[in-house]
Amino acid sequence: MPKQIIKVEAGKKTLSGKHLSRRRFLCAAGFGAAFPVPAHGAEAEQAPKVITVRGPVPASKLGVTLTHEHVMVDFIGADKVSRDRYDPEEVFRAVLPHLKSIYRQGCRTLIECTPAYLGRDVQLLERLSKAGGVRLLTNTGYYGAADDKSIPPHAYRETADQLAGRWIEEFRSGIEGTKIRPGFIKTGVDRGSLSPIDAKLVRAAAIAHRSTGLTIASHTGDGKAALEELDILREEGVAPQAFVWVHAQNEARTDVHLEAAARGAWISCDGIRPESLDRHLNLVRFLIDRGRIGSILISQDAGWYRVGEPGGGKFRPFDFLFLEFLPKLRQSGVSESQIRTIMVGNPARAFALGKRLLGK
Ligand SMILES: [Zn+2]
Repeated sequence: MPKQIIKVEAGKKTLSGKHLSRRRFLCAAGFGAAFPVPAHGAEAEQAPKVITVRGPVPASKLGVTLTHEHVMVDFIGADKVSRDRYDPEEVFRAVLPHLKSIYRQGCRTLIECTPAYLGRDVQLLERLSKAGGVRLLTNTGYYGAADDKSIPPHAYRETADQLAGRWIEEFRSGIEGTKIRPGFIKTGVDRGSLSPIDAKLVRAAAIAHRSTGLTIASHTGDGKAALEELDILREEGVAPQAFVWVHAQNEARTDVHLEAAARGAWISCDGIRPESLDRHLNLVRFLIDRGRIGSILISQDAGWYRVGEPGGGKFRPFDFLFLEFLPKLRQSGVSESQIRTIMVGNPARAFALGKRLLGK
């Protein structure tokens, strides 16, 4: 096992002290005076939590985290998606070795970004997490990208408040009759100006954030869409620190990345793979050089078992980032402590449960 990778894991010790309070943690996270976190009574003393499929854990315990990956995806569309379309045992057997492999690389948490109607199976995730050792987060919310194919019909009929109500209920009571709760809100929007349905999903996510404190991660087509999403959050009184701009690498204009980071959003460079390694390296280096290391999340959008393809198709392993990308980042001059910030500190702060509201 490469020595440097172990060092990243050791970095979790630097994240925070054992008894760091929620207020101190979120202040350290950059949610300082502008976005005060309410702290009353016993809650003030509780360390901030992240909700995994196996229950809440202190955010400071997440360790090395992949912030955007998939175990399984089914692109058939909301009208046809169904548990009958795959064999959970086969998926389990196909995915488990990949989770074990990243565990050996020092990875301790993987954020699973497949939403409902796109192949979310929380019981499968729970089994895989228990067997593979890696913590998994699942999500609530709907996916409005890919031409709205995975949006269920009721999302068109219902208001943003009604949709948020469904997602808040999953947070409070568990998903689909289980006790498994979402660790974040996942949504998705296409490129350019937001369509009415995409705007509604983002508004619903903001409303659900206000009730739950779950971070919003949105698959976003480009920078124009990202800034419009942030505008909707502002209208709803939600601070940009609650928002992860997923697939930020798809925007070529780095001034838009800087603008979103300056507003407080998380910039997720999450399509790392052999053919895009240099592009991601350049974007991460650019953000670091511009003083925005505290806004960076990196991941691979890898996996996944493809429902409908024989054997789940070709699974893209989760370990490329550890084996190839991080060594390249080190070679480019990024220090071990900066890598710890990106792989350990930032994910913990980004996904810590906590309401991030604009001051009135
Ligand atoms: Zn994805």
